[in-house]
Amino acid sequence: MSYKIAIDAGHGGKDPGAVANGLQEKNITLYIALEVAKILRAAGQYVILTRDTDRFIDLNSQRIPIADVSVSIHVNKSPSNISGKGKGLETWVSLFNQPTKSRELGQNIQDSILKHISFHNRGLKTQVNSQGNADLLYMLRKPKGIAVLVECGFIDSPIDSEILKSENNLKKIAQGIASGIIQYLVKEVIDVALEQWMIDGGRTALKYLEKQGLILNAPEWSKEEKLGSATPQYLTWMMLQRLDEKIEKKLK
Ligand SMILES: [Zn+2]
Repeated sequence: MSYKIAIDAGHGGKDPGAVANGLQEKNITLYIALEVAKILRAAGQYVILTRDTDRFIDLNSQRIPIADVSVSIHVNKSPSNISGKGKGLETWVSLFNQPTKSRELGQNIQDSILKHISFHNRGLKTQVNSQGNADLLYMLRKPKGIAVLVECGFIDSPIDSEILKSENNLKKIAQGIASGIIQYLVKEVIDVALEQWMIDGGRTALKYLEKQGLILNAPEWSKEEKLGSATPQYLTWMMLQRLDEKIEKKLK
């Protein structure tokens, strides 16, 4: 399983992004992005960083390299009339650009970060432009792959800024983002395998899972004695889990 993943550290260079409590958004987003890239690369994924230094990039094609998945990392700030009042984690998802997949990826990332850091949960967010025909945010509207944008807390919040001051916490946020992406991608692979399973009872699905690196030696897996060992049990469990989720979604 090797996907092309674009990781975008928001702002940079002459554009510091949100500033408060001695922190600058551009530095936080860069730190998290570099950590996310490190983890995903160690997990065998192909990562493109839109920037890996403190430099300015406009909202142009450099922000949206060709990729399967695009995750833009930001930090929030409350409007000045309610300065310091907002707090928590929110993930922006697309209403127009592969919306179902964007929502699913966004939910995975949101849930996964919350497992690592006790941010207030603001949930998923969406916003259309004034014409009502596209997402307001460039980093949801323009990427070629499945797009989400994460707002990792409020820089002006007394609670969140304490979280964001610790490099250890930024590493945990990065771990959350990376795990959320990987979980989503594994689900995608499993969905394809589940569909194939219906056709010929596993032969094609097993070959596919082998090609994706989730199992080794597909022909052996088809033999009954092998199906008792630990890894296929785990895989079977994941597939059942996924089937369950899909049925539940249909019932809603
Ligand atoms: Zn920002």
